[in-house]
Amino acid sequence: MKEDRSWTEIDLISFEHNLTELKKHLKPGTNFMQIVKADAYGHGAYEISKKAIQCGATFLGVANVQEGLLLRYQGIEIPILILSPSLQNEIDLILENNLVPTISELSFAEELNKRTNKQVAIHINIDTGMGRSGINFKEAEKAIAEIKELKNLQIEGIFSHFSAAENDEEYTNLQSERFRQIIAKLDFQPKYIHIANSSGVLTSKCEYANLVRLGLLSYGVYTNPDLENKICLKPVMTFKSCISQLKSAEKGESIGYNRTYKAAKNLQYAVLPVGYADGYDFLLSNKGKVIINDQVCNVIGKISMDMIAADVTGIKVEIGDEAILLGGNEESIKAENLAALYNGSSYELLCQIGRRAKRYYFENGELIASSPLLRRDFVSSDYSDDKLNNVIETAIEQRLQSKEISNLIYSDILKRYFAEHDQDIHYRRNFRHTIEFNEHKRSELKDYYLTKTTLTFTKKLQNDYFYVACANNEQLLEKYFLRKDVEYRWLLDSNLEAALFDVTSVKINEIELYSEMKLSGGCLEIRCYHPGLRELKDQEVKFSISTQTYYPKNSHQLAVYLIEMTQGVQIEFKYNDLFRKVEAVPIFSGRSKFPQITSNADSIKVSSQKEEWIFPTSGVVFVY
Ligand SMILES: *Cc1c(COP(=O)(O)O)cnc(C)c1O
Repeated sequence: MKEDRSWTEIDLISFEHNLTELKKHLKPGTNFMQIVKADAYGHGAYEISKKAIQCGATFLGVANVQEGLLLRYQGIEIPILILSPSLQNEIDLILENNLVPTISELSFAEELNKRTNKQVAIHINIDTGMGRSGINFKEAEKAIAEIKELKNLQIEGIFSHFSAAENDEEYTNLQSERFRQIIAKLDFQPKYIHIANSSGVLTSKCEYANLVRLGLLSYGVYTNPDLENKICLKPVMTFKSCISQLKSAEKGESIGYNRTYKAAKNLQYAVLPVGYADGYDFLLSNKGKVIINDQVCNVIGKISMDMIAADVTGIKVEIGDEAILLGGNEESIKAENLAALYNGSSYELLCQIGRRAKRYYFENGELIASSPLLRRDFVSSDYSDDKLNNVIETAIEQRLQSKEISNLIYSDILKRYFAEHDQDIHYRRNFRHTIEFNEHKRSELKDYYLTKTTLTFTKKLQNDYFYVACANNEQLLEKYFLRKDVEYRWLLDSNLEAALFDVTSVKINEIELYSEMKLSGGCLEIRCYHPGLRELKDQEVKFSISTQTYYPKNSHQLAVYLIEMTQGVQIEFKYNDLFRKVEAVPIFSGRSKFPQITSNADSIKVSSQKEEWIFPTSGVVFVY
């Protein structure tokens, strides 16, 4: 914060307070949908969603597919409604990410119905007078009946949207009545009926509805000053910067572009390193206010792209002092008041704020999370490979010593693997690998431990066969690391014959596979197959691979590598009573470098969180 040029502070407790206050206006049994479109009105969709869910949100509302899938990647699981009409080319992403589309007209519904063979939940939007998207209320009955005929669509919700809930009671009532009549005529009961936005919660009744959609008021910004009598809200976001230079101007001198401000007397002013490119609206030129050391200061001159000037005459200030640009409890810089200065919209002001600023999240004054600078670039389509490679390189250079960079590559790699949903990239989940050493009786192999391994994981099945490969030389084995049809590789001691590696059991789900061994260029290739696998292709299946081999006693370490993107890793080394002490040296890259290590008298285990993604070329070395 202190070292940032500008930043936003998000007070999650104020957000919680607003939700609590809004919920007091809901009739019992009414659920709420948290609206998190436009990155939660600039507050950061992920953290806001998490908090809203904690506070009882049963639904999230976003503007488009990208916003929805971003939340899915970050692990948000509750239903997400795409409020705006989607485009037909977004259907696949909607289905893959389990998002709920809004139906605003029939042809989209028909296309959606065609493109799936599962039941897809939808909400139908009826235009009762908003005059924007949705099916005109006069045609609603017929359209709903037609959509109901589409067998893959399941009408989970029907909704409408108020045009002026904050300031036109009569029109709001008219819209509500039109909607009520449509609902009354339905010959089925959708799970959700909704019409009220956050203002509507305070100004309309809508007895027929059982869900409301909370936006601006939940962020603590009033849509109409009259509502202050009905509810007490707290602003959630504060936008801040700091003084980067102090200067003085003599009477008559001008400040900023085109000389729109001329000093009427000698004055001192502060230069703040934020401008309209940071979301501080250009129309606040010569109008905005900022708070420096508890004093209200006028913004003077035109807002530049990256800088503004504030009159600090007579105030004790220093370079580096904090300047509050928006939010907090000071009336003059509340979003609604700043927007009023230029006849603007507080909605717009909020969602444009802090384009370059980091978000810092607080609870009771304590910093609990932050989101990286490039958060909003996460799924942008103009994110070039070059830039991505650059980020990864830098990160590797720093050996993940910086949390910010490690967060960035984490999200960028996820993006690369998932957001672009490259069909060629497959990943494993629930990875469990156990390696067990034992003594044995074969005298010719007395310098070796008998070694049994079992590996299980789930993964999408790509073929009706796969290979296990084994070689006793690293170069030979290397080629199998690139092959997508090889699921397991073992490096055998150079003095052992390939025949001393054996696959004892291979299963996909409960199907025991056939295996066929072949020596090829000094490597042992074991083809595992079963005709029954054909039916499982493209499904997520459970692989179980057990092997038996020998491991040299003169080695004092055992290394296990992950060469695929893996979610949820557990690697266990069972050494029975062969060694006194075994240590595990994990080389993990992912969100955390430090998996959990647990050891018993005769085994040691390294495990990540179940949900955590571990990047390829991670691994662990057991040293004994
Ligand atoms: C944005 C939006 C909301 C939230 O409105 P607020 O006025 O911010 O409460 C609700 N419903 C729909 C369909 C929206 O697009």
